[in-house]
Amino acid sequence: MSSPAATGAEISRTHRIETVRQQMAARGVDALLLSHGADLPWLTGYRAMPLERLTVLVLPREGEAILVVPRLEAPRVPVGSGAFSLRPWSETEDPITLAVDALGGRQATIGISDRAWATSLLAFQKRLPGAAWVAASSVTSALRAVKDAAEISQLRAAGAAADRVAEQLQSGEIALVGRTEAEVSEEISARLLAEGHRRVNFAIVGSGPNGASPHHEAGSRQIGRGEVVVCDFGGEYDNGDDVGYCSDITRTVVTGEPAAEVSEAYAVLLAAQQAAVGSVRPGVPAEQIDAVARAVIDDAGLGEYFIHRTGHGIGIEEHEDPYLVAGNRTLLAPGHAFSVEPGLYFPGRFGMRLEDIVVVGTDGPDPLNTIDHSLVVVDA
Ligand code: ZN
Ligand code: ZN
Ligand code: ZN
Repeated sequence: MSSPAATGAEISRTHRIETVRQQMAARGVDALLLSHGADLPWLTGYRAMPLERLTVLVLPREGEAILVVPRLEAPRVPVGSGAFSLRPWSETEDPITLAVDALGGRQATIGISDRAWATSLLAFQKRLPGAAWVAASSVTSALRAVKDAAEISQLRAAGAAADRVAEQLQSGEIALVGRTEAEVSEEISARLLAEGHRRVNFAIVGSGPNGASPHHEAGSRQIGRGEVVVCDFGGEYDNGDDVGYCSDITRTVVTGEPAAEVSEAYAVLLAAQQAAVGSVRPGVPAEQIDAVARAVIDDAGLGEYFIHRTGHGIGIEEHEDPYLVAGNRTLLAPGHAFSVEPGLYFPGRFGMRLEDIVVVGTDGPDPLNTIDHSLVVVDA
């Protein structure tokens, strides 16, 4: 039986598996057990449903990789690359036994998915009492953080779709005044889907004092005139493949001419965000992008109102390495993709945040969100 010609995506997945194996060798990891989380789809094109039934890719440093998968899920697994084989298990089989068999004795040091169920890890530990366990991310996350050209184009398409929704917000197409945050959030979500996302991960709408809570859940508060409204939204873009990449954007708008203190704070925020984006280039430590944003805000005397890190990596997961935070000395490299999203939060009054996704280009930043960065007055 001849297998169909390998697609570009399959070739890059096969290449990723090779790279992961090199990293396993370098780190002394004998096998990976990849269950829930983004490592599995990154390497196989298959995203396991978060069922209690065990799905696990047994990936030894050498030898055959085997995906142990519930029989009823097996038809959804894209095969063809030959990079791994399938071992579907029926309801009366014990998948832990199948996975342990697939390890074939390579069990001194095992990396397991960070997001595997604790029950799976406990069952494996019982069966493999001599094994040392590490987080699979110690092998995969630095590799996954550097996006290849195909991944960057997926992120770019996701970013462009999010930009289109942000433009609809800034142009007043999405009515704000007199509606509840929840209504606006629903409309933003619908528009993300209409612009090509397959799933909305969040659509934060924080109006007035609610904007001072960075991850405010859009609720029943009615948006009034002359208010600051923080809108932070994103989802998984539908690229026709099983594994999509995420968007994430924040724009802050005002429903009427802003008070002087609002425009003054926003000028600081904008300067901080632009300086941070402008400082992105290969060889710079991740923490330095955070420091650049923070310095602008500190110099304006607003440091106490910037209460979170400057950004997070993005890819198959909405939040992944590298994180732009003090203490992260990871050197930025071409292909790293992350948010740059300083914010200012004045408790009980208002908040503001400005967020773009930025890819590290060969000699500078490659921003994926380019829609208007100013504090747009939305008269709607
Ligand atoms: Zn956030
Ligand atoms: Zn966001
Ligand atoms: Zn974000």
